[in-house]
This record gives sequence, C-alpha cells and structure tokens, in this order.
Amino acid sequence: MNDTLTNTVSTDLFKQHQERIHKNNLVSEKENQALKDSIKELLKKNNATLIAHYYVDHQIQALAEEVNGCVSDSLEMAKFGKLSKSNLLVVAGVKFMGETAKILSPEKKVIMPTLEATCSLDIGCPAEDFKNFCSQYPDREIVVYANTSAKVKALADWVVTSSIAVEVIEYLDSLDKKIIWGPDKHLGSYLQTQTDADMVLWDGSCIVHDEFKFDGLQKMKKLHPDAEVLVHPESPKEVVGLADMVGSTSQILNSAKNSKSKKFIVATDKGIFYQLLKNNPNKEFYEAPTAGNGATCKSCSQCPWMGLNSLKNLEEVLKNLDNEIYVDPQVSLQANKSLSRMINFKS
Ligand code: SF4
Repeated sequence: MNDTLTNTVSTDLFKQHQERIHKNNLVSEKENQALKDSIKELLKKNNATLIAHYYVDHQIQALAEEVNGCVSDSLEMAKFGKLSKSNLLVVAGVKFMGETAKILSPEKKVIMPTLEATCSLDIGCPAEDFKNFCSQYPDREIVVYANTSAKVKALADWVVTSSIAVEVIEYLDSLDKKIIWGPDKHLGSYLQTQTDADMVLWDGSCIVHDEFKFDGLQKMKKLHPDAEVLVHPESPKEVVGLADMVGSTSQILNSAKNSKSKKFIVATDKGIFYQLLKNNPNKEFYEAPTAGNGATCKSCSQCPWMGLNSLKNLEEVLKNLDNEIYVDPQVSLQANKSLSRMINFKS
C-alpha cells in the first residue's frame, strides 16, 4: 500500500513547511496587532465567519474566539459553518476541513488562508488506490476517518471523527457488519481493541502522532508519577497503552478540565496547549516526548500543515477572497451522505 508514498512525500514537505512556520513566527508584536485589527475589519466588511482548528497558531485561535467564530475539532468546525448565517466561511486548518465545510454548506463560499495545508493521512490515501483496496472486500461496510479527501469520503458508507469513531464502530459491529477502515492504522487498531469488530485496515498514519515514542513517555511518566497521560488515538498502540485517557482533541480538553489531577502529559499536536492552558490556569501540562533529531528534520509535535496558517495569509485571503474550495458536485453529494450519517448518528 502507500506507506512509502506517505513517508517520502511527507518528509520533504515537512522540512519545507517547518522552515516556513519559523519564518511566520518572525513577526513583531506590533505587526501582529496590526494584522489582527485588519483581519477583524475584513471579517466584518465581508460578513465572514472565522472557523479554526485547535492545532493552528494560538493567535488565530484567540482571534476566532474574539470575533465569535469557532475553535474546535473538525466535526464541530463543519457543523458551525453549516449553522452560521454568514455566506463566507474562512477555514483555518487543513484542506480536508475546508472541503468538509463546503460539502456540508455547498451554497456558501469557503476560503482558506492557504491551499497548501494538507494532511499525511489525506496524501497517503489516494481515492483510486482506496477504491481498489475496497473492491477486494465487497461485503464490508466502508468507514473512513474525516482526515480524507472529498473523493475518499464519497466512496465511504460512513465518515467518522475520532470523537465518535468508537460509538459508530460499536454500532456497526452490533449489526454484525464487517468493516473496512481507512486511512489511520493506529486509530483503526485502537478501534479494533475497543470494540472487537472485524476490521481490515488501510496502512496510513499521521506524521505528527506517529512520532510519539513509548520509551520517552515511559521515562517521562517516571519523572512525573502524579501526572495523568492524555493520548490521541492516532498515536502508536504502545503509546496508547501508557495512557490514562485516550480521546479526540475535544475529549482531551474535557478530560483535562474535569480531572482532579493537577499535572498532565499530553500526546497530541502542541497547538492544543493554547486551550489547555487557557482553560486550566492552575494546572501543569507537559508535551509527550517525540523521536528527537532525525536525519532530515527535528521531530516535534507540531503539524507542518496546520502551521502554514498565519495571521499574514489570513489577512491576505480576506483581502483577495481567493483560495476558494471547490468540490465536484457529484462527489459532494455522495460525500454528504456519509458525513450526514455521522452527524445524524447522535441526534
Ligand atoms: S496533525 Fe496529523 S492528522 Fe492532523 S492534519 Fe496534521 S498530519 Fe493530518
């Protein structure tokens, strides 16, 4: 399958994008303030809604909160966009999030600060290859993770996010359905362990969560025996095995807020620390350790593509109103069915 493709493409892009994230950060406080003021004006002028993911730069998250936009996980982002009265949605995240917003709100214009922001799970699961994979198992229900292209979603019976995946798989298993799962193998294997469902897995992974290491985390736990370990299920299974709590970004945030613990080790993208620290000023948070320095780049828990969203390109897109997301109407219609199943699942 596509492991080689995923790793080759990702390592190159990862390096390039890390350099660009670094450049983005070389902006003075004064310039940042001027950018924020200008973005607020432009949002108002264009009657636009800003929707941001928990993994983007903390300044964009803060701005989205300030202008009554939304900061959340990918499912809530899309739902918020759908309910918004605005006809222009500005999605700060990665491309599949913009596509999902467009699929759920085809009548609205969806733009993004950059169209280069993608995801290793999306890259590693081309629609044609996934279709061939699925054709080997015609009797199985196709369930895909939200981190996929519109075309892959259109091939699926169900789309799920990590916050709802266990429940949907449990439900399908209770109906004696056999399942094809793609693209994240770690999340897939976690779902199998949790539900005992009969699943065949596509071989993809998230380059950020894949970097969390068992040995490092074990050592860190010894250093902080009183810390609770919160792990995103896109992490390798050995790392998940060390967790006190496994869950999506929203579930990690809720768990940290509701726990009596004062200390946490967190294995997910470091963008989430903005919300963790804001919501829990009296608690301590530590980043779970990653692999360290590799041959091609320094491993870290920061998504290179989420990091491409900056105040600068956010201002630019609102001035030019370009970087629009288009989804083929036929693909959109099909993908909408599998997405709507998830949205209606709990309602
Ligand atoms: S953190 Fe991983 S799963 Fe999320 S967008 Fe980046 S590469 Fe994709």
